[in-house]
Amino acid sequence: MTDPRKVYSAGTIKKICLDAGADDIGLVDLDREALRHEREPILFVYPRTRAIISLAIANNRENIQSPARYVANAEYHHTGDRTSAVSREILRRLNRLGIRGVVVNRSWPMAMERYPGKIFDVSHKIMAVEAGLGHMGLNRLVLHPKMGSCIQLESILVDGVMDEYDRPLEDSPCIHCNLCAVVCPTGAITRGEPFDFMACMTHTYRDNSAGFHDLVEACVTAKNMEEFGSRFDERETGLMWQSLMFGMSYRCSYCMAVCPAGEEVRPGYLENRKEHIEGIVKPLRDRPERVYVAAGSRAEEKARRNGKKEVRIVKATSRTLSR
Ligand code: SF4
Ligand code: SF4
Repeated sequence: MTDPRKVYSAGTIKKICLDAGADDIGLVDLDREALRHEREPILFVYPRTRAIISLAIANNRENIQSPARYVANAEYHHTGDRTSAVSREILRRLNRLGIRGVVVNRSWPMAMERYPGKIFDVSHKIMAVEAGLGHMGLNRLVLHPKMGSCIQLESILVDGVMDEYDRPLEDSPCIHCNLCAVVCPTGAITRGEPFDFMACMTHTYRDNSAGFHDLVEACVTAKNMEEFGSRFDERETGLMWQSLMFGMSYRCSYCMAVCPAGEEVRPGYLENRKEHIEGIVKPLRDRPERVYVAAGSRAEEKARRNGKKEVRIVKATSRTLSR
């Protein structure tokens, strides 16, 4: 058990995290005012929590930017697995110092027994912002000042007290270029409007639980294969099969791909905006694909304005799927 009077050096903890493979990390004390709404669920996961280690690991950006979305999805899975492996290694090394804790996974599995209520306990985005790893941009992703939007986040709840904690950055790395709104097929990102979680989830998470429920419903209620095929054709059944077999496929995440925030991307973008738009934004904006929207929604209106997209009307998805 960790000595409750012992105070650990933040510098030592950070070095352990970076040596174990994190690209960046920040330390957050549980008692700060900004976490008042997060405290209870965090303590539910690990009642001995005194601090949170938030870590960021970079995705291979060009994978995320490819119009071949299976390449982007493989990147999410592999870098996601690496993120979790690094977190677990960090915790093992901290154990040797006497610190105990819990790694909170960045994605599924989550508490699906609470669905459609809130199925997660720890918001990795809030932890990352509080840890000074970045700020949320117009695309609602945490933008790291160096690595930009192409990162994965995870949180480790620990029972140790540190001698120093991090604070949110003063400035946001978002450069207000509006490219995320331009490329968003559902209008979930619209400048001057609140982020439309429902629109994003309904489309991007189509091969996730909402689409799966629809698949089950179609299996049970369709009178014959013809009717089933009108609700789930072979392509859609194939995508669902792939998602179930090999890890969830995201239909979109274009807002991460096009974002030029961060020192590693911004200078190149500012120097040659045309190349960025022609090479990264347009292939995604103009990618022929189905876009899944709720009937009569703003998302339907936006999707229908893009002649390259085929609109499919489905039930709206719960926003509680997203951390
Ligand atoms: S993931 Fe796609 S639908 Fe969702 S906000 Fe980003 S660009 Fe829009
Ligand atoms: S694409 Fe532009 S506006 Fe959108 S989050 Fe990134 S920097 Fe901000």
